[in-house]
Amino acid sequence: MTALPLVFDAPRRGLPPTHLADLDPAALRSAVTELGLPAFRADQLACHYYGRHENDPAAMTDLPAGVRAQLGAALLPTLLTEVRSLETDAGTTRKTLWRLHDGALVESVLMRYPARHGSRERITVCISSQAGCGMACPFCATGQGGLTRNLATAEIVDQVRAAARVAAGGQLGGGPGRLSNVVFMGMGEPLANYNRVAATLRRLITPAPAGFGLSRRSITVSTVGLVPAINRLADENLDVTLAVSLHAPDDELRDTLVPVNTRWKVGEVLAAADAYAARTGRRYSIEYAMIRDVNDHAWRADLLGDLLAPRLAHVNLIPLNPTPGSQWDASPKAVEREFVRRLDMHGVPVTVRDTRGQDIDGACGQLAAAP
Ligand code: SAH
Repeated sequence: MTALPLVFDAPRRGLPPTHLADLDPAALRSAVTELGLPAFRADQLACHYYGRHENDPAAMTDLPAGVRAQLGAALLPTLLTEVRSLETDAGTTRKTLWRLHDGALVESVLMRYPARHGSRERITVCISSQAGCGMACPFCATGQGGLTRNLATAEIVDQVRAAARVAAGGQLGGGPGRLSNVVFMGMGEPLANYNRVAATLRRLITPAPAGFGLSRRSITVSTVGLVPAINRLADENLDVTLAVSLHAPDDELRDTLVPVNTRWKVGEVLAAADAYAARTGRRYSIEYAMIRDVNDHAWRADLLGDLLAPRLAHVNLIPLNPTPGSQWDASPKAVEREFVRRLDMHGVPVTVRDTRGQDIDGACGQLAAAP
């Protein structure tokens, strides 16, 4: 178990100065009182940041100018500098490349899904939890560059704030709207930056004005399957939605597609996900990238169906987004339909993910953050 410290809390190296979003409400109050200011200034600050999505102290005009300057200098360092944003799907998908304080680059993607079949409109942001990724999945663009560093809590939280601001400001196609969902499906393995991701989840679900007040079920943490970290997440009662990147029902193939499988096998990962679902009472997602002639065989659909039929799971098939230099391709639509049909026959709920943002390299697994 020598790998555990790395799994839970990789090094602090390269992290930016402390930002208010790194601090829980009590710690924020102490930070403000240590500056010689009354504690209610902390609440005002949180109100601006979480409630109005404001990160510019100059715009916090209900605070005296001196206080603004003091709080700004101490608790509002600029964390994310927009390098560029690209839009597609009539402006309803927007990918942003951010530069961090040390020059590291990460991307986030904001997507609007119109109301359909009686479901309400969703505005989802897909965020990064690490610069790069150490999991080395061979079909994923981020995985090819290795891990640069973990993001600080506030660097993750601020991607959500920035997205909520864009949505509210009407810069997303379809007019002003409210950010409703957050998915940890950008760059990085969220559970390999465990403590900061858990702290981020608390900021997301803490009711306004001390947090964004998002609903737990509208937040999805996607993981390659770091079993001890899944167990730990279950124990924290955060009750967010869990997604497991399975991509193969058998260990032999999964060892090559998701290399961490050599450490935690399919059976162990699914057992951890089952225990997680038993606590939340809700289905987890199994992500399965459909890769032509690699993992899309009918017999593998049956094997996956057998594995998942007794479980509280839902399969999300992702047509492979080809990445530069990869010899792999998406499965033909007929093969995909057959895969879906077989899962259906096993009684396993299945959906096929749309390929939003593909033409701006903003779809799943395409985030590589080239400057
Ligand atoms: N590290 C997390 C988040 C990764 S991104 C995880 O592995 O779950 C979210 C999903 O996109 C994962 O299921 C990932 O395997 C998948 N993905 C990566 N590259 C892809 C590609 N080129 N095409 C389709 N899906 C891909």
